[in-house]
Amino acid sequence: MKITEHIQQAKDTLISFEILPPLKGRDISSIYNHLDPLMEFKPSWINVTYHRADTTIKKRDDGTFEKVAIRKRPGTVGICAAIMNHYGTDAVPHIICGGFTKNDTEDALIDLNFLGIQNVLALRGDAAKNEIHFEPEIGGHRYAIDLLKQINNLNNGIYLDNTITAGGKTDFCAGVAGYPEMHFEAASYQDDLQKLKAKVDAGAAYIMTQMFFDNKKFFRFVEDCRALGIDIPIIPGLKALTKKSQLNVLPKIFNIEIPHDLTNAIEQTNTDEDAEKIGIEWLIQQSKELKSFGVPVLHFYTLGKPSTIYNVVKEIA
Ligand code: FAD
Repeated sequence: MKITEHIQQAKDTLISFEILPPLKGRDISSIYNHLDPLMEFKPSWINVTYHRADTTIKKRDDGTFEKVAIRKRPGTVGICAAIMNHYGTDAVPHIICGGFTKNDTEDALIDLNFLGIQNVLALRGDAAKNEIHFEPEIGGHRYAIDLLKQINNLNNGIYLDNTITAGGKTDFCAGVAGYPEMHFEAASYQDDLQKLKAKVDAGAAYIMTQMFFDNKKFFRFVEDCRALGIDIPIIPGLKALTKKSQLNVLPKIFNIEIPHDLTNAIEQTNTDEDAEKIGIEWLIQQSKELKSFGVPVLHFYTLGKPSTIYNVVKEIA
């Protein structure tokens, strides 16, 4: 079922989860072990992130060097197919521009269509570790909106390969990312909103947000989106703070602010265990408030900590 259909048919606030593919060398049981306890909450779907390759320099036997691309977390599409098969729950692969030519993207979307995966989250992707700024592949997309347009073309039977005469149309439901506290590269908050509006005008079906810890920022974002005429569902992305060190790390990586009350409470703890208890309590309160506000879905980033999210969702489900 499409994400939009899940939302239209919902009688209450839905729950969804996001997972990362495991590091290379693990098998699918690590995903099932991660998800099994969370399935108790009957999530409407599971998102699976995509991680592009980093390049590294490797010494050959003859002493010369070569550039090698290494992906530490491959498997997004396979994991989505396995989740749908194993749990009978929809899975949403993240599709990114980085590392893909347009032809690679077309082939990847055709594979998803064959697998019966109708939902995708269309993203630009982060810069690779060796890049200062994001650089698209030669012949690839620079912005998520360009990827979204390619998805819409396939939905209209328009392929890059113009020798195709069968005219088969895909039927993808594509979501996009939104940033209540602005994307770190955006010229301004308003400019970022305009770029988001362009993605919506290009056919995005829903918005999934960056994590935030201050609901007021989300409420303002929703209000500003609505004022611009963005009328598609806006799904809050939620994470629990679990370590004191995250007080410094998360704002830098995700361009977000952590509210003073939460910072003060976490700073007074002596162990990660105590910090996590506060993070869980904060996220429970955040989720309850978002639910009262009427969000269609609470989307939780599980990020290798399913037990943390379990403890949050059992208080609100
Ligand atoms: P875009 O919408 O393309 O925007 C990127 C920047 O460019 C913004 O600052 C925007 O304002 C600006 N911009 C947009 N269009 C234009 C234009 N035409 N001209 C000038 N500027 C423009 N990353 C991964 O690698 N893998 C994942 O699985 C993943 N999952 C994510 C899930 C969610 C819910 C979110 C919020 C982010 C996720 N990310 C993921 C991170 C994301 O890829 C990065 O935040 C990336 O830097 C931006 O992606 P985007 O799709 O928002 O890009």
